[in-house]
Amino acid sequence: METKIDCDQEIMECLAPMKTNESTITNPLQVKVKDIIIGGHEVVVIAGPCAVESMQQLTETAVSVRESNAKILRGGAFKPRSSPYSFQGLGEEGLKMLSEISKKTGMPVVTEVMDTRQIEVVSKYADMLQVGSRNMQNYPLLKEVGMTRKPVLLKRGMMATIEEFLLAAEYILNQGNDQVVLCERGIRTFETSTRNTLDLSAVPMLKHRSQLPVIVDPSHGTGLRWMVPSMAKAAVAAGADGLIMEVHYHPEIALCDGQQSLSLTEFAQLMSDLKKIAQAVGRDMF
Ligand code: PEP
Ligand code: MN
Repeated sequence: METKIDCDQEIMECLAPMKTNESTITNPLQVKVKDIIIGGHEVVVIAGPCAVESMQQLTETAVSVRESNAKILRGGAFKPRSSPYSFQGLGEEGLKMLSEISKKTGMPVVTEVMDTRQIEVVSKYADMLQVGSRNMQNYPLLKEVGMTRKPVLLKRGMMATIEEFLLAAEYILNQGNDQVVLCERGIRTFETSTRNTLDLSAVPMLKHRSQLPVIVDPSHGTGLRWMVPSMAKAAVAAGADGLIMEVHYHPEIALCDGQQSLSLTEFAQLMSDLKKIAQAVGRDMF
């Protein structure tokens, strides 16, 4: 019990943009990705394929999700795959495709950086740097993205507590980069029926303890396409500032995470449903 209190106090003291007590909860931070604001009145949706596979795949998916009012395009070029024999991403080739589509569609792009040695090249093409779940405790990487002036999407480690998650964010913040978005993406539990257990209680807890915007990834959080809409709606109802979701023009032939990717029509339907949920909780969407 004593240890717990000590840890909390340590966090309260060290996290500059974090809430210090209930009465100072006045000024939530907003993160700007080009002209898109995360953490404002509008719930922002980031959508796109798990991995960039080809120009055709990316173009068709991007054009369609933009039509459905997604504001930021996602797509991995450097993929952290469990098996070294799985598709590892197109690397810089994929980054170039993202940048080209970004120019064509006007959507900013977020993509993962897995290694400090990739920061320079990823920063050249992307508008936001994603630090993935597997790297949430890669402290040299956190420090280095903290030294850039790019907004950062920090995903919760699959085994990380809320406290460890906030302290990971602190590594970025204390390098002078306050443009950090926290992303709940599911944690490992004893449950095996879903890919991860999506911890939606993280949303109010993170918002209670920090001023950073909080978004939810129901794709990796469930691993099941059919479950994504329910959890996406629940996330918005719980107060999430946004969602990141995997969408593919043909999920059945996706090179990565097809089983959890929404089709273009499923995504379009979900977006119109989400708008109603957002409005019901005093927010808006597009
Ligand atoms: C991703 O979003 O592409 C990804 C790999 O997610 P996570 O790091 O949450 O597993
Ligand atoms: Mn994925």
